[in-house]
Amino acid sequence: MHRPYTDRRVQFKFLPVLLFAISAAAQERHVIVISLDGFPASRLHDSNVPFPVLRRLARDGAIAEGMKPVNPTVTWPNHTSLVTGVLPAQHGLLYNGLPVRNGDGKSLRIEPWVEKKELVLVPTVADAARDAGQTTAEVDWVAIYPHTSVTWAFPERPQADQPEVRELIAEGVITTDEIRDSGKTAITMHDDAWVRAAARIIEKHKPNVLLMHLLTTDSVQHTYGTNTLAGNAALILADRQIERVLAAMDRAGIRDSTTLIIVSDHGFRSYRKRIAPNALLREQGLLRTPDDCDAWAISEGGTALVYVTRESKREVTVKAMQDLFRNIPGLTRVIWPAEFEQYGFPKWMPGGRMADLVLVAEPGYGFDGAIDGPVVSDVPGNIPAGAHGYLSGDPEMNEILVAWGAGSGWVSNWDWCLISMLPRPSRAFSASSGLPAAAR
Ligand SMILES: [Zn+2]
Repeated sequence: MHRPYTDRRVQFKFLPVLLFAISAAAQERHVIVISLDGFPASRLHDSNVPFPVLRRLARDGAIAEGMKPVNPTVTWPNHTSLVTGVLPAQHGLLYNGLPVRNGDGKSLRIEPWVEKKELVLVPTVADAARDAGQTTAEVDWVAIYPHTSVTWAFPERPQADQPEVRELIAEGVITTDEIRDSGKTAITMHDDAWVRAAARIIEKHKPNVLLMHLLTTDSVQHTYGTNTLAGNAALILADRQIERVLAAMDRAGIRDSTTLIIVSDHGFRSYRKRIAPNALLREQGLLRTPDDCDAWAISEGGTALVYVTRESKREVTVKAMQDLFRNIPGLTRVIWPAEFEQYGFPKWMPGGRMADLVLVAEPGYGFDGAIDGPVVSDVPGNIPAGAHGYLSGDPEMNEILVAWGAGSGWVSNWDWCLISMLPRPSRAFSASSGLPAAAR
């Protein structure tokens, strides 16, 4: 069973590493963080899958058994916890964007392109580095729009008129066609462009801090499941991409002064059965269309967050939902507001970001946003799909963490979850960094 999210120390899990590395960066040192989206810790420890680069870095540097993610175990909330050191209850990210209510009696939508100052409620480590006078860069990092919050950026949606992008085009690193067509091309093309951009930024600008994020690992495991031939091939490709970053560090002459930290933001599970909570709400008369509903569920894979959407019917809707989700195959638990804090979710408040309840799927099942069709159905085709979003505490959601290079020696004794690592190095730096008190 999943353990409830009671250990508050987990919120400090990664920040000390970054703060240590960045405090070192003040003396002409560098820290490069590469996030390989959805790389499960369990796969990295599977000796049947070849990861020569990661394993070499781990051997010469340090490796954690795994990092425990935060709830919800999805991309933007976990990336934001990595760079703020606090739980979603404090930084405010529950989705890959901001949940926006479409009006009373209507559904919600997730708005990704919201400015960071509205989306992220506390400062990040990149803000702290910038405020400490260091240079920063990001390549496809999340919840960081607009990119002007860092010195150099190659954002998820690059624009040809952005100075850094113009520079990369002029140098032949990226083509204008790639930028123009980036909304239509496959994720493998994006990853490749992101690696080229990051390599060039390292070589030319030698930023003190670079945050970069690759996504093919996530996309392939969603489509083909995890620990499959396709899923593992995507992880192996990500392993090789790191080599290109190392080569760029050599060309820049900063290998000896760089700490390289490779992480992921959650693990993965394969599933063959889908649960559609909105179809259940519709069946029970609580939802007619997205523009006419008393409640609305947003799927995050292994969990789904359900909102009361028509305030005048709140009481009767909550009452109806108390029994509604019982006896649904694969729906293992309903979390109500009284329990939110122990899972790291924000406090509930009317009209706020947080839902009224959280549904939890058991392994083998994943939530789906469908309104029509059966409540529980098979994933189409003869292959599993992949999802994350299962409760933190599920070991398959654990993230990878490998550190290598300058300043990584002190972390060689870290334990599997880093929660004992809040240590010393963070304090001196963060005391003057403006980071939230919780992160110190
Ligand atoms: Zn992710």
